[in-house]
Amino acid sequence: MSTWSLDEWESKANAEKRLVTYQLHITLQQMQQACVGCLAEFLFPAGNYLYTGSARRNLPARVHRHLAPQKKQRWHIDYLLMAPKARVTAVGLFSEAECYCNQQVSGEILLAGFGASDCRAQCGSHLKYLGDQ
Ligand SMILES: [Zn+2]
Repeated sequence: MSTWSLDEWESKANAEKRLVTYQLHITLQQMQQACVGCLAEFLFPAGNYLYTGSARRNLPARVHRHLAPQKKQRWHIDYLLMAPKARVTAVGLFSEAECYCNQQVSGEILLAGFGASDCRAQCGSHLKYLGDQ
């Protein structure tokens, strides 16, 4: 599978039952300080990010949750996505494992361990910064 617009991703996700991994393409329009899991205040620079996550059951529901503007903060990514200037611009869908997909992304790790609490593949972070272009 591949990367889809916000209008397309859901029909693709419903049509393909073997999908386990999603990637959120995120644009942050201005820098944002966030208390990630309230372990540390972190200043996210403006620019583009790619977040890789997985859901073994009901992947469309998980992606919907990430796209919802209001939610109880549960995962690290919630703190970034709830920033007023953060937007998900596209959604990638994959049948390959989460860490494999994440490791195909060449981006910068700004915050070690982000979204990687369950990672057993030494990804370092499941959020990568792609720069501000
Ligand atoms: Zn990983």
